[in-house]
Amino acid sequence: MSFTVHGLAVSRGIAIGRAVIVASSRMDVAHYFVKPDQVAAEIERLRRARDAVVEEIERLQASLGEQGAHDAHPELSALLDVHLMLLQDEQLSGGVKHWIVERHYNAEWALTTQLEVVARQFDEMEDPYLRERKADLEQVVERMLRVMRGVASPVAAPAPSTSETTVSGALFDPTVDVPLVLIAHDLSPADMLQFKQSVFAGFVTDVGGKTSHTAIVARSMDIPAVVGARSASHLINQDDWVIIDGDAGVVIVDPSPILLAEYGFKQRQGEVERERLARLKNTPAVTLDGQKIELLANIEQPDDAAAALKAGAVGVGLFRTEFLFMGRNGKLPDEEEQYQAYRRAVEGMQGLPVTIRTVDVGADKPLDRTPLRAGEDHLNPALGLRAIRWSLADPAMFLAQLRAILRAAAFGPINLLVPMLAHASEIRQTLALVNKARSQLDAQGMVHGLVRLGAMIEVPAAALTIPLFLRHFDFLSIGTNDLIQYTLAIDRADEAVAHLYDPVHPAVLHLVASTIAQARSMGKGVSVCGEMAGDVGMTRLLLGLGLRSFSMHPSQILAVKQQILRCDTTKLATWTQSVLAAEDPAALISD
Ligand code: PEP
Ligand code: MG
Repeated sequence: MSFTVHGLAVSRGIAIGRAVIVASSRMDVAHYFVKPDQVAAEIERLRRARDAVVEEIERLQASLGEQGAHDAHPELSALLDVHLMLLQDEQLSGGVKHWIVERHYNAEWALTTQLEVVARQFDEMEDPYLRERKADLEQVVERMLRVMRGVASPVAAPAPSTSETTVSGALFDPTVDVPLVLIAHDLSPADMLQFKQSVFAGFVTDVGGKTSHTAIVARSMDIPAVVGARSASHLINQDDWVIIDGDAGVVIVDPSPILLAEYGFKQRQGEVERERLARLKNTPAVTLDGQKIELLANIEQPDDAAAALKAGAVGVGLFRTEFLFMGRNGKLPDEEEQYQAYRRAVEGMQGLPVTIRTVDVGADKPLDRTPLRAGEDHLNPALGLRAIRWSLADPAMFLAQLRAILRAAAFGPINLLVPMLAHASEIRQTLALVNKARSQLDAQGMVHGLVRLGAMIEVPAAALTIPLFLRHFDFLSIGTNDLIQYTLAIDRADEAVAHLYDPVHPAVLHLVASTIAQARSMGKGVSVCGEMAGDVGMTRLLLGLGLRSFSMHPSQILAVKQQILRCDTTKLATWTQSVLAAEDPAALISD
């Protein structure tokens, strides 16, 4: 039966495919496709795991018999019988084989997928005894996974400690021609990066906001996505046909043939539009009245430089280096590894400037999957040890990053950008460490280059003390994602308050406008690198506010350029003033 789930539209376009649910599986498994000639071996791997678990349980039963525990604990013995029965269950093993044969999933992925299917059937059972057998099924699957991982099973399987979705190790090989869409409860930004290499045509998550980092990475991949879709991962079943409308924030499950045809048409229209925009790649971004606009790219990894160039970016306005630090189980990249990464980005941009932002972990970008340390779940990470605060708390780590950036600057122009500054003392400490890094490299005779220094304006305290920043820095970059979050006290990752996350709230516009005006009056560079810069609905207003440098994901550059080519900034002044004075600016902007 067809139904619709609503969420937040975060990445444009239409995706149509079969659902791959990775939501409620508690097991941390790798997801990858096996080659057609590996299918038989994968099934064999599964069979061997099953046989090993059967043997393990039979041994356990025998030992119960020897200890006379059979009679003492008849329920234990009965439970093991249930486990044996489940292992031989045709629906489980037949279903798992289906995912391997038809979809080419690796055995672990196939097993957890089928677990999901059967577990849902258990959930729907009326008989409470039968419903509770779901836990047995999960234990049996966990035993098999443990065998497949080559880890010996403890006799009493401990309860899994995490309920998190994980897609670690997901290296996808597009051997299967059925389009697949990913449905998950949540995905960490690190997981999202893994998906950059995936075959998924789109994704949906239950949680997340429009400018959550997960959504940002989705946009960078240029695949349709809907987040904050509440219980999508529960409502949608494994392998359901799904349409993701990334423009409207709608997910249609099990669509009728008429809807499929309609969305198929929209999808093709989108492709035609993209091809049309691609022709603008080499057109200079100049307004009708001759104002040259700088269009820069936001990147997460050195290799993204290729996409930036392909979209016609004239530089990188934001390299979010924290993605080099995430998902590494606490082992941070050392100076040498970072130097190689930054150098690759600089060389990849072929002489165009690269703005490298120092690490911004914390809040919704935890280093690893666990967002908080144990016992700290009462804290608000967005207000905690994040970004520059985290860096200054570990000067040795920060120095290593600064040295790596300065060394990479010998290979091309680099701007060094510092996130989330608010205090004069933070500015002083940061600049002192930059000087220290430079002197160390000089003393060691290591090659390094000059960098321009920039500050992100993303905390209201910074936006209200711009002269302080202009005294110390060569340029400013406005991080509207955080500026909105902190000005309006709205967690950018929380879908429950997403309706209050308002980029055109008068307070936000006031801070953005005054930052641009003050930087310009001092002749200093200012750009916007938050999601606002890539929103075509905001281009006219930002131009009217005097912005001449925009940084956004490469996938958005051409659409923004199209808007710029249609604008005459001499005609924007009056309108811009009325937007700034309006009680409800959104109404004027959408006109
Ligand atoms: C911002 O806050 O607008 C920004 C660009 O930084 P990030 O999204 O990485 O926090
Ligand atoms: Mg930010």
